[in-house]
Amino acid sequence: MEYETEQQKKRFYKSKEWQLLRREVLERDNYECQECKRNGRVYTDNHDPDKHKRLDIDHIKEIEDHPELALEIDNLEVLCVKCHNKKHNRFKFKKKENRWSEDERW
Ligand SMILES: [Zn+2]
Repeated sequence: MEYETEQQKKRFYKSKEWQLLRREVLERDNYECQECKRNGRVYTDNHDPDKHKRLDIDHIKEIEDHPELALEIDNLEVLCVKCHNKKHNRFKFKKKENRWSEDERW
């Protein structure tokens, strides 16, 4: 399996295997954001895997590059939405830089 297109990824995240594994990871990590934990904070959420919206499961090695690790529990960890966005929003910084250079024109 490959996970290069949005469609392939969507299909994966809807699969039964993923839904089951996702719960397993939430249980393993006690519904706590592992990145917050590494930074000495505790970020926990409602212990209902269907209701929580603020916790994500992150692929430590991204599935685009490592499709073979998509269902590998050791490649998964719980992140809060904030940390997850931080990890994946590398492009926001570029936008900021652009804004800076625009500012300089003033
Ligand atoms: Zn976090």
